[in-house]
Formats: sequence, C-alpha cells, structure tokens
Amino acid sequence: MHAEAWEGIKNGFESGRLAHAYVIVGSPRGNALHFAESVLKLLFCEGAEKPCNECKACRQVEAHKHVDNLWIEPQSKSRQILAEDVRGLIKRMSQTSFDGGWKAGVILSADCMNESSENALLKTLEEPPPKSILLLVTDSAQSLLPTIISRCQKIVLSEGRAGALDDVWRAPLMNILHEMPPTGGLDAARLASRLKGILDEVKEGISDAVIGELDQNDEALDESKLKVILEARINSRLKEVQADVFRVMLDWQRDVLMLASGVDQDKLLFSNDWKTLTEQAKLHTQGSALKAIQEIEGMSRRLDRNIPALQIFDEAFRKMVRR
Ligand SMILES: [Zn+2]
Repeated sequence: MHAEAWEGIKNGFESGRLAHAYVIVGSPRGNALHFAESVLKLLFCEGAEKPCNECKACRQVEAHKHVDNLWIEPQSKSRQILAEDVRGLIKRMSQTSFDGGWKAGVILSADCMNESSENALLKTLEEPPPKSILLLVTDSAQSLLPTIISRCQKIVLSEGRAGALDDVWRAPLMNILHEMPPTGGLDAARLASRLKGILDEVKEGISDAVIGELDQNDEALDESKLKVILEARINSRLKEVQADVFRVMLDWQRDVLMLASGVDQDKLLFSNDWKTLTEQAKLHTQGSALKAIQEIEGMSRRLDRNIPALQIFDEAFRKMVRR
C-alpha cells in the first residue's frame, strides 16, 4: 500500500503533475510523518537519485529545519491548531521560496484544526500559490471538513482501524516507558516480556482486521495461497505499527537525553511527563542516555532479521539497566 502511494507521488513529481494539497492518513508521529518527510525530500533533494537522504537539503528536511518547509502542529496546551498559525503558514507559503524552488507547508495532526483554522485554510486550497505544496497529516481524516478533503488528494497509509489499534499499544507502552530504566536483570526481563505482549496483542488485532477485510476475490483463492497473502498483509501492517511503537520509545528516550544534557524542559515532546522524565534523566549520564537510544534503534533493526522478539527485547533492556 505504501509502495503504491509512493510511486504515485514520484510519478507526479517527475511528470510535474503533483497535486497542490494532500491529506496523508496514518500516524502523525509514525508512518504518515515519515511519508510527508519523504515527499519533501523528493522535492528539495539536491542529489541525483532523489531523495538521497544524505544531501544538506534532505538532512534539513528531516530535522524540520529546511527554510522552505513550514511545519505547524497543535499547541501543546489546547491541543488545537489555531487560525493564526494557519494564516501564518499560508502567508509564508505565498512568499517566494528561498531559492526560487518549492514552498511546502505541513500541518501535523490536521484534525486538530478548529472551525476558524479550517476556514482559513479553505481559501488557500481554492487558490493555491504557484509551486507550493500542502501536506495535511492526520490519523482521522473523517474529522476534517468534507470541503477540505475534496480539495486534496488523499493518501491512505493506514485506515482508521490501525488508529483504533493505538488503544491497544499506546497506553501500555507508556506504562513501560514510565518504568525505565530497568532496576536490574529481572526487571529488564519483565519489561521485555511486557513489550512482547503488547506487540502480540497488536498482531492479533491486525489479524482480525485483515481477515475481516477479505473480499470475494480473496475468498476464491485456494487455502494455501490465501494463507500466504494473509500473512503478508498482516506482517506489513504489523511492521507499520512496530515502527510507530519504536518511534514513541525513541521520542521518549530523546527527551531523557535532552534533560540529561541540560536542555530546557519546554523543548520536550512528552512535556506532560516532564516530572517522570526528569527523574529518569537523573539516573543517566549523557553517555548512558545516548546508549539507551542506540539500544532502541538496535531493537527495531534486529526485529527485521527474524531474531525472536523476546530475545531481542530482553538483551536490549538488560543493557539499559540503571547503573
Ligand atoms: Zn538529498
């Protein structure tokens, strides 16, 4: 599903027929965010094979620091995207770009726009500035005004059902994160098996959803073929959720690293959890906090290599035991 959406974007880019606005449906911290970043890299990359992921522009896009990429997201307190932020974005999008190229605006969690923000946006969607692209990233497109949706091209990376799975893993994962770092080997093993348990439940939920979505064409297949197809569908969705899970873990651990490095606490992603994060940062040096991040990245890499999940998690959590 991803590959298809990506091909569509690439072809549109190469033939100069990109839409002016896209709604990207998926996780605004996971797959949909990554997809939006990839689209921007494609537009701004200075390499030969776009996106190269290595040039200055690609790196700036990824860090959300590219001068011609404008990002807005909900205010941390109200959880709303304010009309003045939308108007600011539109104003900057209609100015000429830094180097005469593209201007891109991204609205993260676009469903958090209130009525006046959406109305402010509508005017731009009717008359988009030339050489501009607007990406609305959301996990609940149904919360956007139909008039907005109809003026955008829609890219669905994961359906609402995947969003519903958020309930399965997000809260239990946060509980694990609140107990980091493990107090010892036993505690590490316990946290590892809880993480494994969460992913098992996610997989069950995905299986149910995938089986529920079978259509007549699928059911006409013989059993062994169907089994292979089902497994492929389940695994590809599981990978997406796993990516989201590790993204949250990484974000959390980055917050710990920031605090362990003495960065101001209003820069935190999990600003509501600053107390817990501060406690955890006290158990770390800058070096050990950085190492924990590497362990989490390692977990996600090793999962792709058919090593048993429990073993991977167990080994990683043991390496994160507090000193
Ligand atoms: Zn590049």
